[in-house]
Amino acid sequence: MTTATAQAKSRNASDAIAPDTTGLNFFRADPSLVDLLQIHLPQKLVDHIRPHLDRLGALAGDHLDACARLADRHPPVLHPRDRFGRDVQWIEYHPAYRELENAAYGQFGIHAMSHRKGILGWPETYPAAAKHAFTYLFNQAEFGLGCPINVTDGAAMLLSRFGDDRLKAKYLDGLTQTDMTNLTQGAQFMTEKEGGSDVGKLTTTAVREGDHWRLTGEKWFCSNADAKLAMMLARPEGAVNGTRGVGLFLLPRTLDDGSPNSYRIVRLKDKLGTRSMASGEIKLEGAVAYAVGNLDRGFVQMAEMVNWSRLSNGVKSTALMRRAMHDALTVARGRTAFGHRIIDLPLARRQLLKLLVPLEQALSLCFVTASTLDRAEQQGSQEAALLLRILTPTLKFRSTRDARKVCGDALEMRGGIGYVEEFASARVLRDSYLGSIWEGTSNIVALDAISRAIGRHGAESALAADLHARLKESTAIPQSYRDTLKHAIDRAVRFATTVASSSDNESDARRATTLLYHTASAVTLAWEAGQIAERRGDARRLLLSKLVVDHHLTPSDPYAIGSGSREQAIADALFGEQPVAVDRDSALLAS
Ligand SMILES: Cc1cc2nc3c(=O)[nH]c(=O)nc-3n(C[C@H](O)[C@H](O)[C@H](O)COP(=O)(O)OP(=O)(O)OC[C@H]3O[C@@H](n4cnc5c(N)ncnc54)[C@H](O)[C@@H]3O)c2cc1C
Repeated sequence: MTTATAQAKSRNASDAIAPDTTGLNFFRADPSLVDLLQIHLPQKLVDHIRPHLDRLGALAGDHLDACARLADRHPPVLHPRDRFGRDVQWIEYHPAYRELENAAYGQFGIHAMSHRKGILGWPETYPAAAKHAFTYLFNQAEFGLGCPINVTDGAAMLLSRFGDDRLKAKYLDGLTQTDMTNLTQGAQFMTEKEGGSDVGKLTTTAVREGDHWRLTGEKWFCSNADAKLAMMLARPEGAVNGTRGVGLFLLPRTLDDGSPNSYRIVRLKDKLGTRSMASGEIKLEGAVAYAVGNLDRGFVQMAEMVNWSRLSNGVKSTALMRRAMHDALTVARGRTAFGHRIIDLPLARRQLLKLLVPLEQALSLCFVTASTLDRAEQQGSQEAALLLRILTPTLKFRSTRDARKVCGDALEMRGGIGYVEEFASARVLRDSYLGSIWEGTSNIVALDAISRAIGRHGAESALAADLHARLKESTAIPQSYRDTLKHAIDRAVRFATTVASSSDNESDARRATTLLYHTASAVTLAWEAGQIAERRGDARRLLLSKLVVDHHLTPSDPYAIGSGSREQAIADALFGEQPVAVDRDSALLAS
């Protein structure tokens, strides 16, 4: 027996015991991604990014995944001094983390796609919908680094929008570099011990000194703690209390003469997840910083970065769900129990369906939100800006929460070794708990959607108009089902508006946001199904839409029997190899 044959035999044996995704191309294994790219991007751009996504998909399913496993097992270490005994702090990263950085920043330039022309040979900057296809694939391998990539991207956006010419000339090029030796990574320091949600309570002060400011105080959660530059909030001396008195500052890690700026990373956090990435506590001891934009609009300006990050969080949570799904399907297809493949056992198939639906809902709304952002920012559409105002917190709220459940249930599909750290499932589950905390906890984000986006800005009208327009376009969808969706839009929007109308209803904000999410995703899935059916005769997403309606928007009798066989047929259609035609879908749509 040759070595190769022996290896193949032993691989087959281990595959049967513990089927693993290693070697799976995460791009090729994800036809939904290509479908949605074709809906939301011009064909020329899709054709251009496709080979790059293919390359990233192969890396994410293999080498980058191996790096992520190592980087998670060997978290960063903070050193107080350099090797010459000087008080120069530095963070030691495992070489695997450095490889992940090389791929994200150096090879693919994900952080720079919105800012620098020419990344991956494309002559323009990329729309958000294209950039986040890369975010989505990369984060299926490594979630920890997802944060630094995103805050570097967000810092470049804030600087280019609000920075003065001098600051831009000094820092913008570095933030968007793909040459690793010249790259300036970014960070975002807002949270203080006194309050993360209640930002207006922050106590870091800024005192003017010539052309710069001196900052004193503490930041409690600083991800990418040793970034060369951080965008941060502080209160200028004499400014009013609350968020209105908060200014936005750029904090460089080193000063112009090369000496370290006057702040210390006091320690690194020992975290549940994102263990590969350094989150620290920072003490500012008269650190030099530069004002960015109008000082009395610091919080409003920072909110633009927060909203970009909330979309990115939605995408990254969706990535974790896809990763968990790849793992669950690989196990369910590759392992047998009681003489059957696990995927062929009715109860297991139903559980897989419960993983698939929230994942595809999230993917649909990620693309709708990213395209809306593109319309609002590239084309200056006011209507898109209002729609974005409600879509962003709605996506962030539900997709980050669903990721916890999907990743946990996918872990169980692996059986006992899902609980063992040698496979990705445990890491993915640990990572999945973060999305709903940072850039606003679930409560804060639901209140943003209901009390502010709807209560203050009236964004429900833009959402209702958008969803009705999508339904109108979906002429391939059976009329009775379109009527069901139409009714669902009206009910969800009415409910959310009622909740928003009085602070007495605040405790219903999460429920209202969830209903908006399910309604928006059910409509979007159906709208996509019409287009995909036209393009390649497959209307599977219509079935997903129907499952959302059945499970989340329709009252059900807990004792009813009989939905099992229909759901089984839907699961067969969704997990089967064959495309599903609209007429067959129409039959399955019937309750
Ligand atoms: C791994 C990690 C990395 C992070 N990285 C960064 C970073 O790089 N930069 C940064 O600035 N921050 C960062 N954070 C901080 C994060 O954004 C905050 O922890 C978060 O915003 C919550 O703030 P808090 O911890 O002060 O909790 P609190 O604000 O004290 O919240 C505690 C609880 O009270 C609830 N609550 C608060 N207000 C309300 C309300 N009005 N109604 C109902 N419930 C409410 C919250 O939902 C939460 O459940 C990070 C956090 C983690 C875990």
